[in-house]
Amino acid sequence: MRETEQKAAEAYEKQFGGEPDLIASAPGRINLIGEHTDYNGGFVLPCAIDRRIAVAVGKGEGGLYSADFEEAREPDEKNGSWADYPRGVAWAMGEAGHEIKPFEAAFAGDVPLGSGLSSSAAIEAATALALDAHFGLDIGRKDLAVLCQRAENDYVGVASGIMDQFASLLCEAGTALLVDCRSLEAKCVPLDLAAAGLTLIVCDTRVERGLADTGYNDRRSTCERAARTLGIEELRDAGEGDLNRLSGEELKRARHVVSENARVLEAVEALKNNDFHEFGRLMYASHASLRDDYEVSTPELDTFVQTAEQHGAKGARLTGAGFGGCAIALVPEPRTDVVTKACEQAFAQANFKDPAFYEFVPAAGAELAENPG
Ligand code: ADP
Ligand code: MG
Repeated sequence: MRETEQKAAEAYEKQFGGEPDLIASAPGRINLIGEHTDYNGGFVLPCAIDRRIAVAVGKGEGGLYSADFEEAREPDEKNGSWADYPRGVAWAMGEAGHEIKPFEAAFAGDVPLGSGLSSSAAIEAATALALDAHFGLDIGRKDLAVLCQRAENDYVGVASGIMDQFASLLCEAGTALLVDCRSLEAKCVPLDLAAAGLTLIVCDTRVERGLADTGYNDRRSTCERAARTLGIEELRDAGEGDLNRLSGEELKRARHVVSENARVLEAVEALKNNDFHEFGRLMYASHASLRDDYEVSTPELDTFVQTAEQHGAKGARLTGAGFGGCAIALVPEPRTDVVTKACEQAFAQANFKDPAFYEFVPAAGAELAENPG
């Protein structure tokens, strides 16, 4: 069993007494390429990271317990706490017509929270897989992901696309996941970074995403307007040839979306050919487009990308919605420390906050633990 799964099992025994019936866990994710494409019906390419949230589940009326927050919560009283995520999943399952009897659940995890690595999808996906198995619902992973998104949108009240939940439930170790956000088709693409001698560095700029909500909503509505101007349903349906019929902000935002969708598909081809040089080039191009056309970068994110490039990264870009948050870089393994040290220096010189760095390997999606209890 993984350490987080062990911790969830121990927390269950301590809190509720007895052994849990089963344990499940699910990962956070990063998005390799395909930013602000999801709500335009386009493509994304996330991969699961080797940080997870585990849940131990059993029959009983003990409610919900978080080992990380050291906090017990009632099973079904929405209150703005962490417990709304598992409550939301049980609610969404009930709304979909599944019978959810009383259960008790203990959670433990190591996904950094609120950093844009999607700890929220991890707790949702772990809960969904655990309840599916516990109640013998046999729902299927894609439908579980849709239920998790419903939980986040309609119960917790956070507008989010489907990417995070798809990544957490459908990724496999050593792969990235190409998702068509319109058809919800998804397929794994090999991503053997170790064989290519590369590490995946995540830089958390620790800039609060203060403007994120307004900025995000503003970008979404400009994309909708651009689609209306072009007489199409979503910018997914636009091509480069359409762009000359747009102007001003609509043109800039649409140019990002159209070019980014193309880059995702090119990036998948590059991975299939093990061509990390091309993959890296596409990452840099994605960042430039997000910075110049979509205008969601920050000085911190730009500094990370520029410094990584100067010190030998194959590719780097902001990841997530932007306005702060995280950036990623693909770095030849021996240069990892050089890149992080150089970034620390550059951040200090510019009087930015100290960044936090993580190294991840593409990890498995949600799983049931093999030896419960
Ligand atoms: P992100 O998904 O980028 O990490 P969110 O704000 O969407 O950030 O989700 C973070 C929330 O998810 C936390 O505030 C908490 O409510 C919940 N959460 C994350 N990790 C845990 C955990 N280990 N145990 C319980 N709840 C968690
Ligand atoms: Mg989240």
